[in-house]
Amino acid sequence: MSEENKSSLDQLSALCKRRGFIYHSSEIYGGMPGFWDYGPLGSELKKNVKEAWWQFTVRGREDVAGLDATIIMHPKIWKASGHLDTFADPMTMCKECKKLMRSDQIKDIYEDQKKKPQPKIAGSDFFCPYCGGELTEPKPFNLMFKTVVGPIEDAANTAYLRPETAQAIFAQFQNVTSTSRQSVPYGIAQMGKSFRNEVTPRNYIFRSREFEQMELEFFIRPDEAVEIMYGKVVTLADNPNLDGPVQDDWGWEVWHKYWVEQRKKFLNAVGLPTERFVEYWQKPDELAHYARACVDIEYDFPFGRQELEGIAARSDFDLSQHQKHSGQSQMVFDDPLKQAAKKMDDAAKKAFVEKVQADWVSRGKDALEAEKFCLALFEGKYVPHVIEPSAGVDRLMLALLCEAYEEEKLVDEKGKEDIRTVLRFSPKVAPIKVAIFPLIKKDEAQDKLAREIFTKLQKKVNVMWDVSGAIGRRYRRQDEAGTPWCITVDQQSVEDGTFTVRERDSMEQKRMTYSQFLEMMYDALEF
Ligand code: ATP
Repeated sequence: MSEENKSSLDQLSALCKRRGFIYHSSEIYGGMPGFWDYGPLGSELKKNVKEAWWQFTVRGREDVAGLDATIIMHPKIWKASGHLDTFADPMTMCKECKKLMRSDQIKDIYEDQKKKPQPKIAGSDFFCPYCGGELTEPKPFNLMFKTVVGPIEDAANTAYLRPETAQAIFAQFQNVTSTSRQSVPYGIAQMGKSFRNEVTPRNYIFRSREFEQMELEFFIRPDEAVEIMYGKVVTLADNPNLDGPVQDDWGWEVWHKYWVEQRKKFLNAVGLPTERFVEYWQKPDELAHYARACVDIEYDFPFGRQELEGIAARSDFDLSQHQKHSGQSQMVFDDPLKQAAKKMDDAAKKAFVEKVQADWVSRGKDALEAEKFCLALFEGKYVPHVIEPSAGVDRLMLALLCEAYEEEKLVDEKGKEDIRTVLRFSPKVAPIKVAIFPLIKKDEAQDKLAREIFTKLQKKVNVMWDVSGAIGRRYRRQDEAGTPWCITVDQQSVEDGTFTVRERDSMEQKRMTYSQFLEMMYDALEF
């Protein structure tokens, strides 16, 4: 979506409904706030976004393994992770119109209202953004959806729909480590449904109650282990090359920045140019107590700049919590670390322990714990730290739709103006890759050849067959669906096998052979 041609979310959502990208869930019964369905084009777009992420994050690397865990897990997982006690938003209710809302979103809701109410109690700063009425005191509201496992509805059988995919990765860390032939530093990735009972789901598919996430937990050595092994820890001040292969002597700070850069590369590859998003580095007072750094990648949605995804350096918090709550060790044994520690004499070890103790105490941690941690390190043992890039599938789809949408003004040879609605998706995520048209529907030879090309391409990518209407109208239909290429088979095709390939963005047409087209298409689809 270009700056000067930014559409409102209303125009985009109208196109998405009309062309079968996104529908209200349960629409025939009036819909459900915060739940959305993806139609024929939307489901293809979603699959492509997820496949692109999996290819970029898992298959395209040697140091990441995949996981596909259940949505309902042991409730103790949510106790250990902190979700049961603290995953809550402040909720308030209007005493007059009875509407519920998040008290930290009142200002935004007020801004969104076309008719802005005045406070009914003069001078009040905290009033209902819908009617101006008096609000109740904010109360924490836990966002997890509850359910019951088995036929008996009691507290012992209460379970939760996962509010994030990440926790299963921690809970299966030891299994994946022992079966994947991976060792730290390495990552485990998972994508799938998450559920949050958002108080005010809003802004289309930006904040839903059922959505999908794509999360990576990349496990790294604690900096202290890196120091034992390499004598120093590489930090950002050393200007490490983040474009080259990853390095074992990187500290957490470099790994974190490396993943911020990787995520930006991914966003570029699927069609979001760097200049269209910003990195927001959370300030120390905004960070969770265990987090060392957190970057939100924010995108300029039509309703304002908002978080698209986050990359957090979470220390060893998660695995340590699961170790504590499950009683199962979440340590790894790192032989190269043990071998490096063996080379240290007693004086060097003592000096090392004292240095770590001083550092931990300066960060409000316990000196005795620091000593225990060092002694375990000398044995090659530690609980890994983690860098977590966490993205939302639906949010990324919305950003891609916003970015791709354009109402382009065209002027024909006779000076007549026209508007072309086009979705300029990257071919990598475009729902339909190629549309195939015989120029003249009733021409048997053209129809036969076009069908042959269609059937061959159908085995490779998602293709569309269209014979209805003038060729110009067929192109426009595909522009609205975001199809990057249209192939038209004409009389010359019947004679020499070449066909016309019309490119969506430039609208240029080129004659190509089938193999030339395949080469061009695969080049554009490759990561
Ligand atoms: P927000 O502050 O917007 O609620 P968050 O910081 O709680 O998001 P995380 O818990 O870090 O989000 O989740 C990681 C990613 O999952 C987010 O960056 C976003 O892309 C996606 N996500 C989170 N909540 C929702 C939701 N309700 N609907 C759609 N996507 C979501």
